Amino acid sequence: MFYLKMKLINLKIALVWVFGSLLFLAFTIKSIPIDNGLKTVVLDAGHGGKDPGAGNGKEKKYALDITLKLGEKIEENYPNVKVIYTRNKDVFVPLHERAAIANKNKADLFISIHCNANSHSKSLRGTETYVMGLHKSQENLDLAKKENNVILYEDNYKKSYKGYNPASPLAHIMLANYQNAFMNQSLEFAAKVEKNISKVGHSTRGVKQAGFIVIWETTMPSVLIETGYLTNRQDADFLASSSGREKIALAIFRAFGEYKNQIEK
Ligand SMILES: [Zn+2]
Repeated sequence: MFYLKMKLINLKIALVWVFGSLLFLAFTIKSIPIDNGLKTVVLDAGHGGKDPGAGNGKEKKYALDITLKLGEKIEENYPNVKVIYTRNKDVFVPLHERAAIANKNKADLFISIHCNANSHSKSLRGTETYVMGLHKSQENLDLAKKENNVILYEDNYKKSYKGYNPASPLAHIMLANYQNAFMNQSLEFAAKVEKNISKVGHSTRGVKQAGFIVIWETTMPSVLIETGYLTNRQDADFLASSSGREKIALAIFRAFGEYKNQIEK
């Protein structure tokens, strides 16, 4: 009995120690400042190739166009910034490869661009800029699942994602902690994106959190921008027009500039 008690006490001490260390680690990682500025940005056009995205391929097409427009602006105005595209044409790129491209190039910022759709509500409209985290609503969880489902297009997804099953809610909770170290910077940039989009005459729904695989594995501040609902008439018209996509690219570009100034001052 005494032996058992001692064992329990030891277990408690061990648990406190482990949790204490984890907390310490979390705070240490969180406080690592970015001191080398914004030199490399990875632009990630969602979907592509055999993966059409929402709206029968409209998503992959619009996402690519906005991404290229954005990249062009950054290249023109910030010649010292290296712009890397995960895809610059209509090809399929697995999600883990998109994150790997950003990590390998030691990017300072990762921007993933998508379009949304909602089969239940045609009145739902506006952009959403996501950072990695726990979904606070069923709606965000459903969206993350839908975007993550594209791994099913990959031949060996079970191997690439260590048994991750996009249909399981538990898997999404698991994802939540990985981007924590870059949470503050990701939130800063996300807020600037939403603010600037609201200024170009497109409606916005704000900064949100959900467990997207594509920003799960990146090791830098990362956001995923849903540039509007293809299921909503006004959003669909905005996204279908080249001038609408230009405005979105311009807004993200302005957010990029503000964020760059902020972290480099
Ligand atoms: Zn998408």
